[in-house]
Amino acid sequence: MKLNDSFSRRNFLKSLGYGAGALALAPALNAFSQGLPADKKLGIALVGLGGYAGGQLAPALQQTTNCYLAGIVTGTPSKADEWSKKYNIPEKNIYNYANFDSIKDNPAIDIVYIVLPVALHKEFTIRAAKAGKHVICEKPMALNAADCTEMIEACKKANRMLSIGYRLHFEPHNQEVMRLGQQKVLGKVTAIDTANGFVYGGDPNAWRLKKVLSGGGALMDMGVYSIQGSRYSVGKEPLYVTATEEKTKPDLFKDVDETIFWELEFPDGLKAKGRSSYNNNWGYLKVTAEKGNFELQPAFGYGGIHGSTSAGPMNFPQVNQQALQMDDFARCVINKKPTIVPGEEGRKDMLVIDAIYRSIASGKREKIG
Ligand code: NAD
Repeated sequence: MKLNDSFSRRNFLKSLGYGAGALALAPALNAFSQGLPADKKLGIALVGLGGYAGGQLAPALQQTTNCYLAGIVTGTPSKADEWSKKYNIPEKNIYNYANFDSIKDNPAIDIVYIVLPVALHKEFTIRAAKAGKHVICEKPMALNAADCTEMIEACKKANRMLSIGYRLHFEPHNQEVMRLGQQKVLGKVTAIDTANGFVYGGDPNAWRLKKVLSGGGALMDMGVYSIQGSRYSVGKEPLYVTATEEKTKPDLFKDVDETIFWELEFPDGLKAKGRSSYNNNWGYLKVTAEKGNFELQPAFGYGGIHGSTSAGPMNFPQVNQQALQMDDFARCVINKKPTIVPGEEGRKDMLVIDAIYRSIASGKREKIG
């Protein structure tokens, strides 16, 4: 532990809020006690039955309290059959991309959850809102910030709520980083270092490697978590960014970015270093503050998050992030309360991503927004 002499371990733990020998219950878990009819369940329709919908969201929807898997939207008839049997989804709640708009006549569907390639997020968010449904849209929110604005406006116009699939806001270790950094529990944050990526070994023809469908490579897919992480570590918006790009596999990544390095500049002089990659297994968020530091590693996945501060491990429970995220949104809809992860939050990250791509193109420091 690296602390000032005057700052004893006991005081340090106390200042973290870890007093009385017990950790505070994670805020996400406490949310369940917030008043609402316990038996109210909203119907969610998943749009796009790929890896994330099938591997994470559908199983999570078996564990939710205030929402359930009511419908599906897919372009593949065999998937419709398979999902219908597996999750007991009635024929009347199954749509394809062509007849999707008729979902407006289906009162069993309250929320549409868009889990499609990025380029389709805007179209389906707007169609869902026009059909009178509340929307959850996966990250990254859209191809660029201008599209995010259109999505936000469409949902406002339809008087529907829009949320982004930012599951980490419901994850206790990440919530603790928000608390420590934003409330300056260990003093002002003085530096941030974060990276997220994996070694891409998938299909070379997948949508993730086609700019027209993905909007970009690892920055869009993985870097968005590091940008989010930097922003929620301090609860502030960065003003400038300087970025560079590295490509070691130009054949595979001919259309999208492989590895990007950036530095965000926050209003009070704080600098946050970030990296995204399709060629490195990264996944950490390290925050240095005046009186100590805190970090998460792995920080952003859903296979287990580990966190520590200068005083030792965080010891929060592992949770089903997707179940908590979807339940929270359902409660926001039921109680007519704003979500903590609205479209505006997705747009803020896209403003940063847009500026990172501009900086790479110009070779200069770029203003964000
Ligand atoms: P995927 O490739 O596994 O699934 C995409 C689905 O979209 C497939 O079912 C595919 O058939 C369908 N699709 C419809 N039109 C398509 C088209 N024109 N081209 C290609 N596919 C088309 O992708 P995924 O990993 O499930 O990602 C989907 C979305 O979820 C993305 O926005 C991604 O960033 C996001 N995601 C989020 C997380 C998270 O932790 N929040 C994790 C993984 C993916």
